[in-house]
Amino acid sequence: MAAKSHTVSNKNPVVVSGIQPSGTLHMGNYFGAIRQHIDFHDRHEAYFFIVNYHALTTLQDAEALRRYSVEVALDYLALGFDPEKANLFLQSDVPEVTELAWIFFTLTPVSQLEKSVAFKEKVAQGLSANAGLFNYPILQAADILIYGGTLVPVGADQKQNIEICRNLAQKFNDRYPQNPPVLPVPEPYILDRVAVVPGIDGRKMSKSYDNTIGIFDEGEVLKKKVMSIVTDSTPIKEPKDPDSCNVFALIRLFGSEELVRRIAAAYREGGYGYGQAKKELLGLIDAYFAGARDRRRDLEKRPDYVLDVLRDGGKRGRARARVYMEKIRSATGLITTHS
Ligand code: ADP
Repeated sequence: MAAKSHTVSNKNPVVVSGIQPSGTLHMGNYFGAIRQHIDFHDRHEAYFFIVNYHALTTLQDAEALRRYSVEVALDYLALGFDPEKANLFLQSDVPEVTELAWIFFTLTPVSQLEKSVAFKEKVAQGLSANAGLFNYPILQAADILIYGGTLVPVGADQKQNIEICRNLAQKFNDRYPQNPPVLPVPEPYILDRVAVVPGIDGRKMSKSYDNTIGIFDEGEVLKKKVMSIVTDSTPIKEPKDPDSCNVFALIRLFGSEELVRRIAAAYREGGYGYGQAKKELLGLIDAYFAGARDRRRDLEKRPDYVLDVLRDGGKRGRARARVYMEKIRSATGLITTHS
């Protein structure tokens, strides 16, 4: 990849990223992506979309899709997203992305999609191998490029998809040369430190795998999930390897450097059990999300406000997308006869 995955080289980046409303948002989404979204959104022009077309690849329950779509917006607002500073909206409020995806289908060799690790993993986990799932990275590329996105903060699991997107931007510009080129080639922003957050079963934490700890889980629900994180069976008194432990992987995300060092030393020394580590993790999660939980409770009482935020964000997103679509249509030779 041309870009260093953790630096912002473009001074005025257009930040874009999507999140699926296919379930409750979880710690993997937060540390892999949302935290960076919130961090960027008041410093740069930013478009974040709730990718409900993508969610249809695995969630075909209308009521659930509606509910999760609004919940993702609630979660963002509770986590500190300020709609005065950036744009948060529903993917389906910019239906032009599906048109751009079609144009991109015609530039993508099937053999490239057949190499998709994410597709193979999802099918291996038992998800239906529908054509939407297969073509997922193309719609994702359309999502990014329709806003002229230049910087894409995502989790490490998205590396391959962002590479497909970069290829498509280059290929489009080569096939349909314009001066200046129509599409910027975006760079990923991936925090190496976070890597892939493990779920309670040790696989990648994912809404599709039913192994998540929700950002807003609390009380008994949270406790039950944390206590069920899979560990090996090394006895308490034996030394343990923090780097291969799922509990420690999560502690690292929440704890201060000093605390993380202290817990790592306790693992290596022995006499420190996984149960203790889990209790420590529980306390860290509660403290970290206390403010966001309070804000979410307030926001839940204002569903109209949440819809207003999405509507306004969608209008701005669509206006920008239309500017790019005009250039794309014109470059490809697709004639528009209406205004
Ligand atoms: P999911 O796999 O839960 O459906 P999405 O596909 O909606 O997640 O991904 C939304 C964002 O969250 C992406 O940027 C993705 O890279 C990030 N993400 C998802 N799961 C993880 C994880 N386990 N670790 C790190 N980042 C993740």
